[in-house]
Amino acid sequence: MRLSTRIKRVKPSATLAINAKAQELRAKGVKITSLAVGEPDFATPMHVKEAAKAAIDQDFTKYTAEAGIPELRRAVAGYFERFYGAVAPMEAVTVTNGGKQSLYNLFQVLLEPGDEVLIPAPYWLSYPDMVLLADGVPVIVPTDPAANFLAAIEDLERQVTNKTRALILNSPSNPTGCHYGQARLLEMAEWAKSRGIFVISDEIYDQLVFAPALPASLSSWWEKNPECCAVVNGLAKSFAMTGWRIGYTLAHPDLIKAMNKLQGQSTSNVCSPAQKAALAALTGPWDFPATMRAAFLRRRDLAMEIVNAWPGVVCPKPEGAFYLFPSVAARYSATVPDSTAMCARVLEEAQVALVPGAAFGDDRCLRFSYAVGDEILVDALTRVGKVLVA
Ligand code: PLP
Repeated sequence: MRLSTRIKRVKPSATLAINAKAQELRAKGVKITSLAVGEPDFATPMHVKEAAKAAIDQDFTKYTAEAGIPELRRAVAGYFERFYGAVAPMEAVTVTNGGKQSLYNLFQVLLEPGDEVLIPAPYWLSYPDMVLLADGVPVIVPTDPAANFLAAIEDLERQVTNKTRALILNSPSNPTGCHYGQARLLEMAEWAKSRGIFVISDEIYDQLVFAPALPASLSSWWEKNPECCAVVNGLAKSFAMTGWRIGYTLAHPDLIKAMNKLQGQSTSNVCSPAQKAALAALTGPWDFPATMRAAFLRRRDLAMEIVNAWPGVVCPKPEGAFYLFPSVAARYSATVPDSTAMCARVLEEAQVALVPGAAFGDDRCLRFSYAVGDEILVDALTRVGKVLVA
């Protein structure tokens, strides 16, 4: 089959590869625990599900405007005002099929062929491939566990060229859980602006920041600098709605119009009952994200206690999301030389599925998700520890 060069440049998802291997073992009757998942282990809240059911019963099942129903766009704008004091008109908001499509569409409408995008590593694994799909060039900015995997201005400065068009920031981060906080986000945004670099702030985990750390957002900075950044968020992580595919972007209305044009010629709009569900989530009670946050905080502490006891393993303390990203390079050997080999070994010997750090641009590390019940987590980590430390 003759396929385009564009699609041949893209890597298949590493998460899918590890899941396939886990499935293979499961088929042989081996009981596998997955710490590889990227979604909350909570059910979508009842009032959100009820809103979708009501929408279906009321035949709210037809096409909508590309950018989403106006009341949802206004509710998204209301989110930024409620949590970050940023005031935006609904024309500055578009609703997409997950935060993923927001990011994809942004790169498509922003990048010219050859434009470079600064991506601090470890990064969410879709960023480089999305940039490639937009004919851009991903420029990876390495960071270190000792610096909590956070990029400093000097790190970014080293990679800037006259082709640099954009910088993507993700706080708290998938895969590290590390968090820039408001002051550092602002510092980086100001730096980018001074260099004429557009900032994309992926804030999909902003509701999952653990006290004493505070959620952070570039939405208030956007209000003052609307041509300099776009903020991406969604309901997948905050309301356990991964399968509903609700994401959104806050950006300059001209950029939003361009994204809508692309959406109009590709996916049209987000599923209409899902939009009603999203509206219920954004305008309803906010105790659900707080409940999840408390559970993830407890599990982070449980997991950190175990991981910190592994000799030679270095794990920055996450301030949000539901991942740990320890560096286990000290445990590599001639037979287990990298993160992919280590994950394969852990899967075989501890029956625990993890994602190799290489998929996120850091081969020293493994990604553990703690979006599983406390007992499962402790049991799985104890088994992994026996393999790693052996
Ligand atoms: N950004 C990050 C950092 C993520 O981890 C994810 C999902 O795992 C997304 C964006 C996209 O989320 P969704 O498309 O499910 O809204």
